Amino acid sequence: MMNGLAGARGRPRVGILGGGQLGRMTAEAAVGLEIEIVILEREAGSPAGQVVGPAQEIVGDWRDEAARRALAARVDVITLESEFVAADALQWFVDHGTPVRPGPLTLRIVQDKLLQKQTLAAAGLPVPPFRPVRSRADLLAAGAELGWPLVLKARRLGYDGHGNAAVESPAQAAAAIARLAGSADPADGTLDLYAEAFVPFAGELAVMVTRGLDGSLAAYPVVETVQQNHICHEVVAPARVPDAVAEQARTLALQAVAAVEAVGVVGVEMFWLADGTVLLNELAPRPHNSGHYTIEACRTSQFANHLRAVLGWPLGSTAMVAPAAAMVNLLGTRQGPACPRGVERAQAVPGAFLHLYGKREVRVGRKMGHVTALGETPAEALERARQAAGYIEW
Ligand code: ADP
Repeated sequence: MMNGLAGARGRPRVGILGGGQLGRMTAEAAVGLEIEIVILEREAGSPAGQVVGPAQEIVGDWRDEAARRALAARVDVITLESEFVAADALQWFVDHGTPVRPGPLTLRIVQDKLLQKQTLAAAGLPVPPFRPVRSRADLLAAGAELGWPLVLKARRLGYDGHGNAAVESPAQAAAAIARLAGSADPADGTLDLYAEAFVPFAGELAVMVTRGLDGSLAAYPVVETVQQNHICHEVVAPARVPDAVAEQARTLALQAVAAVEAVGVVGVEMFWLADGTVLLNELAPRPHNSGHYTIEACRTSQFANHLRAVLGWPLGSTAMVAPAAAMVNLLGTRQGPACPRGVERAQAVPGAFLHLYGKREVRVGRKMGHVTALGETPAEALERARQAAGYIEW
């Protein structure tokens, strides 16, 4: 397997930056296509490393050139499972002859949520009104223009709601800035924040889109997402929204992914309002929690389509194989060594599929696994997924 034919002329070899659950499920999808996966991850025995085995897991940091060199020497193409890889590190791979998909340009745009919003707005796509915030005066001016409440967001490194703060009134401006800037009295002009109008949404939607190397696009069904404490909690497919809303969400998602020239799968998060308006929230240029249901519910999973796209292969069908599906995340509720209980009971629920991520430590709110259930209706699928998820304790 590891002879000279194993490269360009043999099995394709894909490097993944990061070894979490997204890398793990990508590696699972790779097995059936005989794609060789090499993981670069800081800690040995990562969720993805457990699937590919120690020989295929390089323990190191992508900020370290020696680690990058070790990965580049073993793969034909590199992809990622987190959008927080420094664009410069990605550029290094490209400059040294290993393509990265999605590429540094896409990552540079998406990593800076303000630049991302500006790029989408410049493409004529609807986003909530927003203003850059470099100082407290900017935030107060944004409130005067857009109205209160506002959502103040960090431009970089926000996830699962870290990096967001609701600001109800001018009186809360200083506290919100202190929280996001990490300093009680940051100097004016130094803030890397932006403010966004609070959207009184009827619901949140997401669409996974795969964009091939040739620019071909394939959208998965529009799904409903429900967040709790800013963390994705449940996903229902297809979304129970008016047809016109779903159609608009689908069209916007395709346009957004084309606008940032992504390659691979992209999670497109949106808001929909009671009057039928759909607004883009944000893009995640990688497999996404709102697409986990595709493993059982679609002809080609988001992970398989991601691999197809980064390898320049034709994209697979995104059609559902059941009338409805639902996914419920299994989040940690305590701190300590992880040991799931209730696994057998969960599997006894008809139509339910359990996924455990192999994380050794449980923490409050940590994504430890998920359950997907299929059903005749969204309500039935959701009930099954909730029931099975309810049996799992950590
Ligand atoms: P993260 O990248 O941390 O997930 P998001 O910007 O997607 O941050 O926000 C997380 C959640 O916060 C969203 O899913 C939504 O529930 C809520 N939220 C974000 N922006 C707004 C907004 N402008 N109006 C209302 N709710 C918002």
